[in-house]
Amino acid sequence: MSRNPKYQKLLNSPRWWQVKRVVWLRDEGRCQQCRKDGIAAGVLPDGYVVPGVDCHHIKPVESAKTYQEMEQLCYNPNNIVLLCAKCHKEAHRQLRSQTRDAHIATEASRAEQWLQRHIAQPTDAEAKPSPPILS
Ligand SMILES: [Zn+2]
Ligand SMILES: [Zn+2]
Repeated sequence: MSRNPKYQKLLNSPRWWQVKRVVWLRDEGRCQQCRKDGIAAGVLPDGYVVPGVDCHHIKPVESAKTYQEMEQLCYNPNNIVLLCAKCHKEAHRQLRSQTRDAHIATEASRAEQWLQRHIAQPTDAEAKPSPPILS
């Protein structure tokens, strides 16, 4: 659960309960990921019923920069998908690894810039001393 007090406030509002209801009805109370997996596995979707009770935000609410934007992400049914507990856990595991990859990429490009600014790049001639001539 999120520790962001603004996010907590959004989730404690009666509006959130309404949104959850809309999502639950739209997704017919089923985990949409298990449903997708069921179709991919060739199992008829109607015969593949895994109940879902977790409303997952596709774009994390906490990625918003303003409270208004948070509100939009939080209460927009198009940003929410009904999942079972297992798929919900998996969705967050993937989100975390994406964030980690993005973080590594950002730091790598910063390091690259820093090196170019602060550490003189050796020219090719300096980097590769010519091999001693053997006779
Ligand atoms: Zn599932
Ligand atoms: Zn979630």
